[in-house]
Amino acid sequence: MAKGPDPWDVNASSILARLGWCKVDEVFDADSPPRGPTGRNAIKKLFVFDLDGTLAPSKSPLGADVAALLHDLLGVMKVAVISGGDWSQFQKQLLANLPDDERLKDLFLLPTCGTQFYEYVGHWSKVYSEDLSVDERARIIKALQDAYDQSGTKVDKIWGQAIEDRGSQITLSVLGQEAPLEAKAKWDPDFAKRTKIIAILQPMLPEFAIHMGGTTSIDVTKPGIDKAYGIAKLRDQLGIPVQEMLFAGDAIFPGGNDYPAQEAGVDSIIVRDPWETARVIQTVIACLGIDDVQITSPGKPS
Ligand SMILES: [Mg+2]
Repeated sequence: MAKGPDPWDVNASSILARLGWCKVDEVFDADSPPRGPTGRNAIKKLFVFDLDGTLAPSKSPLGADVAALLHDLLGVMKVAVISGGDWSQFQKQLLANLPDDERLKDLFLLPTCGTQFYEYVGHWSKVYSEDLSVDERARIIKALQDAYDQSGTKVDKIWGQAIEDRGSQITLSVLGQEAPLEAKAKWDPDFAKRTKIIAILQPMLPEFAIHMGGTTSIDVTKPGIDKAYGIAKLRDQLGIPVQEMLFAGDAIFPGGNDYPAQEAGVDSIIVRDPWETARVIQTVIACLGIDDVQITSPGKPS
């Protein structure tokens, strides 16, 4: 197998080399600041991020350093965030921690993988929502309950609601939406319990797509809803070709929920955590070389 670049090598030179924008020594040469593309790539106009594990720790708020860098990035290019999570998750994790100003007009939010689309017009406005029908939702909820009951994986204690109707996606979180991380991590580390539930569920819902998400959950959607779907929605809504997009996510590998974005043809950067995402954002801002946005180091990981 040909030895390619190390996908975990998230430093300035590897990012720039993959983007084909500019040589790394140019970035730090104050006398000749880099300007625009030098290689194969079109100028990137839109930076698309995964949310959980990429911009913010799983189900947790955005850190102050990433929030500040995102705000800087919005000064130089458009930004979108795609997640399997619903709108309330975006509000809690992302928006509550971002400065609320006119730069938000260049931020686009795609909850539940782009089956919903939000833009900022002085306030957050839903452009569309492709919800399952009332009948479909009722059928899915009943099937999830039945499959879970029959699977023999029943738990004694749950924290909050187990089945959540997100409109375009129904999610079973076996331990409940509010379950503590330690309990969730212990419940099904080898996926055996969820595999059992899904084996019962699949024949009940043959026309839907069923996926394991997070550590304890099972998501049901219409088929074909993944981050590639979200990328296509961005292309159509914003009129930006995929060649002019960049994507960063923590699960860009076969089976990972960010992999479809890369498969859709977007130049993609895998990150381990929000700390690395912060480095990627700094590098992109430096590379675009916009004079009125100063790069500042956030210091140690928080
Ligand atoms: Mg993720």
